[in-house]
Amino acid sequence: MPLSNGRPYLAIPGPSVLPDRILAAMQRPSPNIYAGALVDMVAGMWPDLRALAGTAGHVASYICNGHGAWEAVNSNLFSRGDKALVLATGVFGHGWASTARGLGVDVQVLEFGGTAAVDPAMVEQALRADPSIKAVLMTHVDTASSVKSDVQAVRAAMDAAGHSALLAVDCVASLGCDEIRMDAWGVDVMLGASQKGLMCPPGMAFVWFNDKARECCRRSGLRTPYWDWTLRADPQEFWQYWFGTAPTAHLYALRESLTMILHEEGLPQVWARHATLARSIWAAFDAWGQGHAGIRLNVPIAAQRGHSVTAAHLPAPDATRLRQWCETNAGVTLGIGLGMATPQDPHASGSLRVASMGHVNAHMTLGALAVMQAGLTALRIPHGAGALEAATSVIAAAAP
Ligand SMILES: *Cc1c(COP(=O)(O)O)cnc(C)c1O
Repeated sequence: MPLSNGRPYLAIPGPSVLPDRILAAMQRPSPNIYAGALVDMVAGMWPDLRALAGTAGHVASYICNGHGAWEAVNSNLFSRGDKALVLATGVFGHGWASTARGLGVDVQVLEFGGTAAVDPAMVEQALRADPSIKAVLMTHVDTASSVKSDVQAVRAAMDAAGHSALLAVDCVASLGCDEIRMDAWGVDVMLGASQKGLMCPPGMAFVWFNDKARECCRRSGLRTPYWDWTLRADPQEFWQYWFGTAPTAHLYALRESLTMILHEEGLPQVWARHATLARSIWAAFDAWGQGHAGIRLNVPIAAQRGHSVTAAHLPAPDATRLRQWCETNAGVTLGIGLGMATPQDPHASGSLRVASMGHVNAHMTLGALAVMQAGLTALRIPHGAGALEAATSVIAAAAP
């Protein structure tokens, strides 16, 4: 008997759950894009977007997904043949590397294996070996592996090497979920997108950059009129913000999102909520894995795990069986294992991801975990006991 009728829960790491009020905010007739309410509203959004990133720098917005934001950063930072050092902790680091390479950037990838954070000592060594690197590209939280790296530690390594490269950070998976402080952490360029922690549909992305990046990149040869961040960050006329028609419905969604995050819940509280929900997911997996080594989190060290997504392993093909059971029988859709294919498990049927990204609260995360518990039982997948007790204890301790 399927028990999936009722509100479905899409627990994949993007697109994330759309709050009803964000959906409602988008439901309106097309506004005037030359003057009036929309233009006034947009003027008030830039301070909020800066606060979200923790920067007093510039912000450029684009009508695109995260891949488009990579292209925006690549084209503004580099000339053909410039050198980039990519710090890869999963699929998304390699994705950024290949888009830069595709534009003719000379990309060196430092691979960190996909289960642990960037090692700053290796970054320092690579920089000392090559003074000509123009920028270091890193992923804050790699959504495939769920590895989180220490951005401040990378900046410290760059400073220790006395290297002048720019530091550019992909925060698509962490923005509005994990703590990010662009200026305080010494980040020169940062990128994010609408459909993850910002709780909006895919289709809008952001690039923040400081004066140093602006100055260094004034003559970048890969810059094209559409991706150029100069006018978008400092337009003479409204149409130049998006180099054409503004993304009208998305802007109403974004306004609602920024209000929810910054003016209602508050950024520190948003970060704390994601941290607690993630820890409850980790606690459940630790219990399921007791005496069953095949069930385990992808990232062994807790401090190196992102808070918006958790990658985990089960003996193949049980991760796929469990995902299908949860969706069919209980209305919970879990994330597939991304970049986890091996010769023994070519379809990554031993990996899955549980999102805790954006508009997610304790009942949603505990509900997803309880459904997974039911699925493990129904499918007779051997597992340790006490997962729900462990997960609920984390929630109870955070809200005594
Ligand atoms: C989702 C994501 C991207 C890519 O975003 P798309 O919108 O799918 O193009 C890039 N980097 C990270 C870290 C992501 O989580």
